Amino acid sequence: MSDALLIASQLTKRFGGLAAVNDVSLEVAQGQIHAVIGPNGAGKSTLTNLLSGDLPPTSGRITLAGQDVTGWSPEKISRAGLGRSYQKTNIFQPFTVWENVRLAAQSREPHGASWLKLAGSFASINDRATQAIEMAGLSARRDVIAATISHGEQRQLEIAMTLATGPRALLLDEPLAGMGVAEAERMVQLLLKLKPAHAIMLVEHDMDAVFTLADTLTVMVNGQVIASGTPADVRADANVQSAYLGE
Ligand code: ADP
Ligand code: MG
Repeated sequence: MSDALLIASQLTKRFGGLAAVNDVSLEVAQGQIHAVIGPNGAGKSTLTNLLSGDLPPTSGRITLAGQDVTGWSPEKISRAGLGRSYQKTNIFQPFTVWENVRLAAQSREPHGASWLKLAGSFASINDRATQAIEMAGLSARRDVIAATISHGEQRQLEIAMTLATGPRALLLDEPLAGMGVAEAERMVQLLLKLKPAHAIMLVEHDMDAVFTLADTLTVMVNGQVIASGTPADVRADANVQSAYLGE
């Protein structure tokens, strides 16, 4: 069996008669970026929601760091080492960058933890928050109200909030959405910096970024995988060219 950090095995999610995700298998290894691409409605966000535990699969298995996490709650999966960012922002706008990341870092502690236990964790929570802000390139914006930072910085903040939970695997749903060229380039550099220490599944529409970043790809159309492999394999695939890349 594969020892990849994150493994989806034959995942299916039905909404009534619609198979939004249909028998999808993929693997993401530490130190690698696995991109999931496909047109709107392909099932990319649903797949992300299955892997994070936000939606239960209709069938199939999810393995994280050798553990079967199928059916686990998002909180339990997060504590087991999976971090995700959301396509729609999760930031609490009236709070500062630091306060947002600090709350995210604390969210990894078990719910209902006693004050004494939380107090004992304060130093490590603060350390995780500080490191996440540094890693995401936001140290200079630490004490700024989140509502006032730029769109690109808000996406960096989402990444910082995800990093603050100490994940080994990252699910990123369109981190470059709505970015200008300079912001997108900054995010690409950030993802390259995160890559060695993480297994990253990247859902992204920006094909330049995908082909720059991805070690492996899965192409989805109407819930199904139509191609997978290295960027070179996928580029050369006739199904992909006609169905998606339009080349
Ligand atoms: P993508 O992220 O690739 O654009 P989605 O995963 O958002 O695709 O959606 C895949 C399909 O599943 C779409 O047809 C969408 O309308 C449908 N879908 C997504 N979420 C739900 C839901 N909660 N209930 C019913 N249908 C859904
Ligand atoms: Mg989506």
